[in-house]
Amino acid sequence: ATFSSLGLSEPLVKAATEQLYTRPYPIQRDAIPSILRGKDILGIAKTGSGKTASFVLPILELFHRTKEASGRYASVLVLVPTRELAGQVADVFQTLGTHLFPRVKTVAVYGGVAINPQMQAVYGADIIVATPGRLLDLLDQRALRLSDVEILVLDEADKMLELGFADEMSKLFALLPKKRQTILFSATLGDAIQDINTTLLRTPIKIEV
Ligand code: AMP
Repeated sequence: ATFSSLGLSEPLVKAATEQLYTRPYPIQRDAIPSILRGKDILGIAKTGSGKTASFVLPILELFHRTKEASGRYASVLVLVPTRELAGQVADVFQTLGTHLFPRVKTVAVYGGVAINPQMQAVYGADIIVATPGRLLDLLDQRALRLSDVEILVLDEADKMLELGFADEMSKLFALLPKKRQTILFSATLGDAIQDINTTLLRTPIKIEV
């Protein structure tokens, strides 16, 4: 397979090529067409598998296809366990989205730094990459709403639970629109991840690498 045979358009194929992604990795070959069809995904994959681009590329492709003027609130929410991962995932959205027009605005928000600059930054963002605690703080401050979220990604969900974010995650899930696409990535598939799978995903495509 090539990135274009998986359904990606020229601006995304070009960006992938510039990143020296010559061929799709297996997880990308499996996930990209399914995400483009609007399916929920249960992905069991570790760092190094290419999991990040497996959701970043099709999400950017969906922006490219709709060419909608950005709404008031973000339509994509990516939850991650750590500040480092939030920065990395937001960088991948920026890098792979570099040839898209209109530009897709991605913002990373995480704890341990001042909240005020993030309150400004989330304004007008299309994609928010967030750690759960800081996202709840921003919601408490009325800096954003989750009412327009169409795609939810949980990245390294097992690590989020390990770090004690279960309560924050439940609170956030309750604030999300019921009608949405959900993409769950975890390195392991234990009982807690199975529970999230059962409650949040609808007839998911399971991908293991
Ligand atoms: P990840 O598992 O998302 O942390 O990605 C692991 C590494 O693989 C990152 O450095 C990516 O830039 C790189 N990568 C992702 N997809 C490809 C690909 N199709 N070809 C070559 N490198 C890739």
